[in-house]
Amino acid sequence: MRIGVLAVQGDYAKHHSMLLQMGLKTRLVRTDADLAGCDALIIPGGESTTMTTVMQKHGLWQPVIEFGRQKPIMGTCAGLILLATEVPDHGLPTLGLLDVAVIRNAYGRQVDSFVDQVTLDLNGKLNKYTGVFIRAPKISRSGANVKILGYHQQDIVMVETEHILACTFHPELTEDDAIHRYFHTKTSKLIGC
Ligand code: GLN
Repeated sequence: MRIGVLAVQGDYAKHHSMLLQMGLKTRLVRTDADLAGCDALIIPGGESTTMTTVMQKHGLWQPVIEFGRQKPIMGTCAGLILLATEVPDHGLPTLGLLDVAVIRNAYGRQVDSFVDQVTLDLNGKLNKYTGVFIRAPKISRSGANVKILGYHQQDIVMVETEHILACTFHPELTEDDAIHRYFHTKTSKLIGC
């Protein structure tokens, strides 16, 4: 099994090295051909408008939509924004693979970025986890088929559907690989290995 990391912009290198540290096969994805050899994909945090524009320019937009209809994608921060069906202040198309509404930069500007404990329900157990929030979005609505996996105070910070896993914070910026492990297990179950 190989988990690709979309590497057009943003914090892809940290996701890639976390997967390598976990002993998993991974690949940086910059083209349609890179994507074709992957069983799952991580869309990192970064700048969602830039990522959208570059993906469209490099012919990755439609292939990622088709990929996400069949295979697992994990989106973190800007990655979540790209996956959402509804992003009122984005002004650009989204991949529309996850039925949530997302408000960009919902905690304020860069100086309002913060680190705090979040509570996650991974595999039926509640766990504390360090959430790194960098100009993070908020999920303001989640669809009926979207399962909520995590909260920071009253705010939803992590969700999943059958194929998609997404969080508003940056799991690649801590030493804890619990979320990447959860995504790996989800992928294994889905592709049956
Ligand atoms: N604010 C960024 C955006 O709207 C997301 C920030 C992040 O990914 N850390 O794209």
